[in-house]
Amino acid sequence: MTKEKQKKNTARKRMQPCSPKSDRITKKEALSMLKSADLLDLGLTADNMRKQLHPAGIVSFVVDRNINYTNVCINKCTFCAFWRDEDDSDAYVLDRDTLFEKIEETLDLGGTQILIQGGLHPDLNIDYYIDLLRSIKKRFKINIHGFSPPEICYISDSADLTIQETLRILREAGLDSVPGGGAEILSDRVREILSPRKIKSSSWLKVMETAHRLGMRTTATMMFGSIESPEDIITHLEAIRELQDRTGGFTAFIPWSFQPGNTELANSNLGLGISSKPKKTKPQTPTPKPSYQATAVEYLKVLALSRIYLDNIDNIQASWVTQGMKLAQVALRFGANDFGSTMIEENVVASTGVSFRTSKHEIINTIRSAGFIPAQRDTFYNIIRKY
Ligand code: SF4
Repeated sequence: MTKEKQKKNTARKRMQPCSPKSDRITKKEALSMLKSADLLDLGLTADNMRKQLHPAGIVSFVVDRNINYTNVCINKCTFCAFWRDEDDSDAYVLDRDTLFEKIEETLDLGGTQILIQGGLHPDLNIDYYIDLLRSIKKRFKINIHGFSPPEICYISDSADLTIQETLRILREAGLDSVPGGGAEILSDRVREILSPRKIKSSSWLKVMETAHRLGMRTTATMMFGSIESPEDIITHLEAIRELQDRTGGFTAFIPWSFQPGNTELANSNLGLGISSKPKKTKPQTPTPKPSYQATAVEYLKVLALSRIYLDNIDNIQASWVTQGMKLAQVALRFGANDFGSTMIEENVVASTGVSFRTSKHEIINTIRSAGFIPAQRDTFYNIIRKY
């Protein structure tokens, strides 16, 4: 890449508020698309938008590792199979030697980032997080993409600091960017069922806005396919689009579907997923448990709609971790331009029993055989190497 092109690229990636486009789709149109548009029409529209935003046909991926420093969590979300109580036999807090070994291995494999997240452990205070970040930065040249909004709020509450003060302190200690975890669906009606102890939608958005105002980039996610309605999905997309209009701080949007294995939600009758229709039962028959599992078509529809609705976010990520490599490959024709991460390690989705694994080599081949140019990127979507 010439220096001039590089400059242009960097400028495009710089954080800037995005003026709303005059021809963007409305909430009403989006809802109608989600409910009744033809799958292939939706895919074609999303694919055309992807082409406009990424005309070179590059599909990127990052080499990184998810490191979960603890699985102890007081939130106990009903959709989560990862959390443990402090006195559970398999509860853990990662020791430093193990953590450093994991980072060393990531760097040896050409990794540029660690995604570090954990549960809300009652005994860990802000000093733990500061020390964790400093100790990593002292030893390794690696981007720390870490601590999703629920963790940031928990750290700030327990230290009696504002969100802004907390983010400043963590950034000074070495935090580079913030992952969009903990968003699930940004509708408090849904959160009340999925994760009643978790931060509300407004707090998630506040952490992200504060991070953006401090010059930190973040991602945004959405976990769908559980108890939300199509209207809730649109509410979520609108909240993300509106914040991005004001800050321009999101690098990417990552929709993925709820994985029910080993979760309290899947064993309950808390509601019905978007894919489920209530079945009529005879009065004496016990109500069947709803089947919470978005289908491939639902995944592709939501992905395509995300590409179309979020006209101010450059990158939409396919989720091979939850959908498998084959559907993630198809997703590249439904609006996605990024293949996420090689995930040298992943524990949260794996705890539901879903354990798709891959390698850099397989990601490259999958992208190439779908007709795109594979490219390794960094956290900020700068291209490191094309294949
Ligand atoms: S999703 Fe996160 S906050 Fe909720 S129980 Fe699991 S680890 Fe805790």
